[in-house]
Amino acid sequence: MFARPQPTRRRRVTDAARAHPVGTLDDARACLRDRFGYPDFRPPQLRAVQAVLSGRDALIVLPTGGGKSLCFQVPSLVRQGLTIVVSPLISLMTDQVDTLTRRGIGAAFINSTLTAAEVANRLSMARAGGLKLLYLAPERLEAGRTAQQLAAIGISLLAVDEAHCISEWGHDFRPSFRRMGHLRDQLGAPQTVALTATATPDVRDDIIRQLALRTPEVVVGGFDRTNLLYHVQSSATPSEKDAAAVRWLRGAPGAAVVYAPTRRDVERVTAVLVRARINAVSYHAGLDAAQRQRTQNAFMSERARVIVATSAFGMGIDKPNVRLVVHHAMPGSLEAYYQEAGRAGRDGAPSTCVLLYSHADRSTHEFFLGSANPGRVVIERVWSVLQTHADREGFVPFTLADIAEKLPAATGQLRISAALRALATAGALMTQRPSLGRVRVRLLATSSRIGRELVGARAFDREVLRAFWRASDHQLGAGVSIDLDGLPPSLGGPAKIIPVLERLESEQFVSWGRTGGGFRLRGRGSAPTLPPVDWPALEWKRQSGMYRLDAVQGYAQTRACRRAYLLRYFDDPKVRTNCSACDRCLGITVAPTERSPERPAHRRSRPRRT
Ligand code: ADP
Ligand code: MG
Repeated sequence: MFARPQPTRRRRVTDAARAHPVGTLDDARACLRDRFGYPDFRPPQLRAVQAVLSGRDALIVLPTGGGKSLCFQVPSLVRQGLTIVVSPLISLMTDQVDTLTRRGIGAAFINSTLTAAEVANRLSMARAGGLKLLYLAPERLEAGRTAQQLAAIGISLLAVDEAHCISEWGHDFRPSFRRMGHLRDQLGAPQTVALTATATPDVRDDIIRQLALRTPEVVVGGFDRTNLLYHVQSSATPSEKDAAAVRWLRGAPGAAVVYAPTRRDVERVTAVLVRARINAVSYHAGLDAAQRQRTQNAFMSERARVIVATSAFGMGIDKPNVRLVVHHAMPGSLEAYYQEAGRAGRDGAPSTCVLLYSHADRSTHEFFLGSANPGRVVIERVWSVLQTHADREGFVPFTLADIAEKLPAATGQLRISAALRALATAGALMTQRPSLGRVRVRLLATSSRIGRELVGARAFDREVLRAFWRASDHQLGAGVSIDLDGLPPSLGGPAKIIPVLERLESEQFVSWGRTGGGFRLRGRGSAPTLPPVDWPALEWKRQSGMYRLDAVQGYAQTRACRRAYLLRYFDDPKVRTNCSACDRCLGITVAPTERSPERPAHRRSRPRRT
């Protein structure tokens, strides 16, 4: 069990803060006015900026649109040194970097779209003091010697944006975010500020723990978005939902977002809207980058009034005048719902959030929760398959499909990949990408043929075979995977060995192939028969998913004020019992045409870690 983080009054200035004078609040206000053109900070922003200026670690929880970016951008600009911003999405990084460079601020990103030369160029700009803010994805920070190079430059502030990605209980969990705590150490443990819109205590605790924030100042802004009207409409069937979506969109002029759960749903709903003469476009991860960009531009520039999208759309997209957000199905958590619905009305003008809810929505989530939490039996089966097929070095040259083939058909690839994730989290294995130096070789020829034919000018070929034989622990006849870079350097590495393999194969001495990726078991030899998985933690994760599902269903089914329900969930002290701005308080709940039997969500209590 871990304790709720409490804001603490104790001041502690980190070494990094001492090394880099951190600026005053007056500096920050002047910067806000001069560089960004805003008269003042919003009240919760002010507390956040003060926390960062004090030099302490901080966790800043503000709703979407609350202005989190400025909470690290402004402090970065009024101090000396470089700020590293870790951000999960390329679109989000490019958005912020564009905005900053337009304002003449030295900002850049490093991500997978750049060449090595461009990366080197940006690093040397940072080294020369030409950058104030450098944005990276955590995967990129892990790559090669990036972290060490940055540490050598000296980092004044580390900002972790969308920090809920650190938490498995956050809805956008990213495994490499999980290693942020370690990365932070590699960066020289600079002052760190984590920012998120996800306010549940589980996620907050997890962020603080994972990043090892030092007595952090926790700033939680008010969660009440008073300009948003909340509606839930129960709809029994998809076509009833379609009809409802059309009615809502016709009734509300202005830009609108319709969220649908899958790519297929997105395409279908768009077609329905277009048939109803509503100017709508589709957005989902199945479209290529250029199409996505076109769709997004059409929506941002108002050539398209409505964007129908999966949850892939939204993070970092800042269109202030969205008047309506319709959810065609219930999301898996209130965090997700609140964040997506919160993309309405960022400009503060009245806007509407509608959830089209049916009982079937819950079953879909239960299915995915089941797949994402495969349970002990499946995890142990996957582990045993890997152990059985691992070579001497613990390498298993399998794909997901290969593993699936060896398990009962009902297991399913979703469950297997969740099991692999659990094993990776436990430190039991690593996923290995296809590598040039790793080959799979099987000996076909007899030793007498080798002795006869590989002589004279072929002595080198024979030496290579002998090295393989040794590396394979005399199992070459059965076929083994071999790391060419691990062979004696006198053989000359892959460049010299591959031509030998080609020659030997053409003469049927061996068969070989480059291995694709696979999995590498850790601690091979001493590897335990049972995987070292934290079972109670996994069970907690499953319960936590169910708890969140109950909570969002409770929102859909509550007979009381929706806003009060939301605020209570987010622990906002300013809960009132009547808001006059939701369907319940206004007494205008739209009943479904067909009544389906109500299955009330029984709210279980928030699961606690044992
Ligand atoms: P978040 O990351 O919390 O979702 P952003 O940092 O993207 O929010 O900011 C949302 C919008 O609010 C942006 O358009 C931003 O320029 C604007 N904004 C932020 N702070 C202020 C402020 N103090 N005054 C006026 N507008 C602000
Ligand atoms: Mg943001």
